[in-house]
This record gives sequence, structure tokens and C-alpha cells, in this order.
Amino acid sequence: MIKTELELEVMRQAGKIHQQVVAELKKAIKPGVTLIELDQLAEKLIRAADAIPSFKGFQGFPASLCTMINSEVVHGIPDDRELQAGDLLSVDCGVTFNGLIADAAFTVIVGGDETNPKRARFSQTVKKALLAGCDKAVAGNTLGDIGYAVQRAIENGGYHILKEFTGHGVGYEMHEDPYVLNYGTPGKGMTLKEGMTICIEPIVTISKTKSKTLKDGWTEVTVDGKEACQWEHCGVITKSGFEIFA
Ligand code: MG
Ligand code: MG
Repeated sequence: MIKTELELEVMRQAGKIHQQVVAELKKAIKPGVTLIELDQLAEKLIRAADAIPSFKGFQGFPASLCTMINSEVVHGIPDDRELQAGDLLSVDCGVTFNGLIADAAFTVIVGGDETNPKRARFSQTVKKALLAGCDKAVAGNTLGDIGYAVQRAIENGGYHILKEFTGHGVGYEMHEDPYVLNYGTPGKGMTLKEGMTICIEPIVTISKTKSKTLKDGWTEVTVDGKEACQWEHCGVITKSGFEIFA
């Protein structure tokens, strides 16, 4: 859970590779591009940086990215569907470099925010909630402070947290202790310590609904067919704030 300065330096490098992959993915995302093309691009870039796609083979997951369109919540398997203008696309990616992992996710409106302002507002609110959580990820605060900040931003926006999906510790394993919930009570829960590496990742629905797993055994979708969105940062708790790796 707590990492040494040497380990943190490797995680920073994993994070840099992750950021480069995300920058290239954002350039490639446009109407007509398929999810599998994005996955192949990500894998090529990760391996070219002497890193490994953390998701590929993780508990049998078949791809380097998780891609979620519109009503898909998490763990979507990239396939040959073409992106359409106005799609709400969440992309989650993991990069393992020298044994340590950077795990982060972003969301875009395919073709630009103006193609679907309602979805753009939704995505921006989830991003703001993530950043509100990151602001509380300071040594001496608690996990409840992070969860409360995320929850307040989501609920003030009129959206809904899927409480079964959580952030987590990260490092040699994709999911380490502790669970980082997207809801909570200020001052409650574990006290955050310098050197703790965590992922904060609100997973949010536009309407009050639940999630169910598709027959592929991975893809989670909303029960009511309305939109879901994920944003995620990984980083380290310091005395002065959350240093974001990716
Ligand atoms: Mg994660
Ligand atoms: Mg992730």
C-alpha cells in the first residue's frame, strides 16, 4: 500500500507512458473508428514503450483497453463496432512498467462536446467529481473525505453513483488495499498516509438505475439502457496533495 521513493519513481514512469497512450487515443477517436482499432493502437504504443498492457490476460480479460459506449458501465471488451458522433465513450487503460501499474480512465464525446451537450455535461460533472476527490487525497485526511467529496459533486449534478464499483490501492497489483469508495462521511474511514498509491474512479449513471453483466461475462451495462460514465486517476498521497501519475 505504501510505496518507497524508488517504487514511486517507476510508477511515475508507468504514468507517463499511460499519458502518452491516452493522448494518442484521443487523437484517434472519431466517428467511423472501431473499438478494436483503438485497442490495437494502445497495445502497440504500450509495448513500444517497453511496458505491458496490464488488463490483457488479467483474470482472462482479452484486451488492452476497457471501452464503454453509452449504456456500458465498466469492463467493456473492444469489438468491431464503429464509433458514432455523439457517442459517450469511456476508455480505461492499465500500463505495467517494471512491474508497477498505472491505471486510469477518461471519457469523451465522439465528434466533440457539441454533438451531444447533455452527455458532455454528464461527463464533465463526473470529471469534476474525480478532481474533487483528488483534492481531498492528502496525508492526514481520510478515505471518507475522498468519498464524500466525490459523492457530493455527483449528487449535486443530479447523477447517481453505482456503489458496487470502487477505486482501490494500486502498485504491483492492479487492485491493492484499500477500497476507495465513491461515497462516504467526512473524517471516517482509514487515515491517508504519505506514499499510499491509490486509484480514485467514480463510476456514475445519468439516471437512477442498476448495473448488470452481459453474457460475455465482462461487460457491465445499465439496466435501464441509459448512459454511464467513468473517469479515473491514479497517484500517490503526499503531505501537500495528490500527485497524479495518470
Ligand atoms: Mg481502477
Ligand atoms: Mg481503471
